[in-house]
Amino acid sequence: MRSAKTYSVPNFTHNSKLLEQFSEKGPYYTSYPTHGNWSNHLGCVDYVESLKEFLLKTPDAPVQLYVHIPFCAKLCFYCICNIIVTNNRERMQHFVDYLFREIDLLKSLFAEIGIKPNFKEIHLGGGTPSHLENDQLEQLVNKLGDIADLNGLFEFAMEIDPRTTTRDNLKFYSTLGINRISFGVQDFDHDVQEVINRVQPFEMVEDLLSPDVRALFEGFNFDLLYGLPRQTRQTFENTVDLVKKLAPERITLIKYAHAPELRKHMRMIDSTTLPAETELPLMFQDSVQSLIADGYVWVGIGDFAKPSDEMAKAATEKRAWRDLGGYCTGRTRDLIGLGPTATAAVGNAYYQSAYGINEYYKAIDEGQFPIHSGFKMDEDEMLRREVIFKIICDSSLDYKQIESKFGISFKNYFTQEIGALDKFEQDGILEFNGDSISLTPTGRFFGRHVAKVFDKFLQRSDGVYTISGP
Ligand code: SF4
Repeated sequence: MRSAKTYSVPNFTHNSKLLEQFSEKGPYYTSYPTHGNWSNHLGCVDYVESLKEFLLKTPDAPVQLYVHIPFCAKLCFYCICNIIVTNNRERMQHFVDYLFREIDLLKSLFAEIGIKPNFKEIHLGGGTPSHLENDQLEQLVNKLGDIADLNGLFEFAMEIDPRTTTRDNLKFYSTLGINRISFGVQDFDHDVQEVINRVQPFEMVEDLLSPDVRALFEGFNFDLLYGLPRQTRQTFENTVDLVKKLAPERITLIKYAHAPELRKHMRMIDSTTLPAETELPLMFQDSVQSLIADGYVWVGIGDFAKPSDEMAKAATEKRAWRDLGGYCTGRTRDLIGLGPTATAAVGNAYYQSAYGINEYYKAIDEGQFPIHSGFKMDEDEMLRREVIFKIICDSSLDYKQIESKFGISFKNYFTQEIGALDKFEQDGILEFNGDSISLTPTGRFFGRHVAKVFDKFLQRSDGVYTISGP
């Protein structure tokens, strides 16, 4: 039986209309325009042009550096990342050598224009960065020192796999300057872990987070997935309770998107064991209520942070932002990526690198950045991005702030969109307050639905908004 708990977060799940709306497919806006609108006609030449333009115009802008390490020890059946399963050390060293050559390409470009970006955050993601040997990781960090001042970083974060990392490894990472660790937890239920091919008991994660290890880092992030096979409302509530015991500084709650037609390995998941679609909003709402009751600050759509954490402060002060990795503190809005599939967001442009490792190697061999696709925003798209990100980060929108940044009259520019927001007011999702809008407590569950109104790539001439993939 589920325990009877009372929380202050409103319950929208008795309202069938809102329940249906919550489950609508649609973008979560880690970028705008969303990735499906990017063009593969943009390549290395455009990327270099955008980087130069960005650095020459805003040489002091704080920038994040993202490094994608594509290797994992074992395949998780729910995975949506671009990965290579291998335990072959030579193969990984071969990749590291190419990564160094990509770093050298960037270094030459910075030397050519005489400007080094003001890197303030580094994120090592993947794949599993902790799958590299310690000496490989140390070489990589030293190499990153060629282009970034490692002593001046706000944040140096790394994703790890609890199944293949030890406390000694974590201690070693801290000696390299890494100050935030991200764990892919997903779910602590053994049955669920078995069917997703990722068995990592609660005790394993608890053991890693000993007080001496915790003291070495500024914070730990946990990723949780709801909608996985064999999950029920009760089992997921148990997982959230266990997560609260470990008290990570940040938690990201993500809906699992089952797409076996796109990701062949997802066929290993028996779709009849997935929870009913109608259960998902309940799982999400339970989790929000439970984490807020435990003192976490709710950030944007599905992120939570302890009040003392920089992410919670950013959300409270309305300076959180959205980057290709999800919510960020807004201390860096621009991003340069390294490695296959890595993304970049510089000035008015987005870019993504090649998916395939061979395509990546080929470009580096030719002395080119391995750019595969991208998008250059015009002024209207930059404006819409700001509006969409403000809504999903702040749960509110101040027209005056947008007007002073973009030199427009908000009500004139967005007459049609403001009209389309009426239905959300009628449903109790948002309130108009003169020169601003804000999501109601119930509306906090519908930020991305409201944001969609400003997405011109979803608009039809009749003012109806279409739905694209998640
Ligand atoms: S460890 Fe992470 S990146 Fe690797 S297969 Fe599992 S989910 Fe994917």
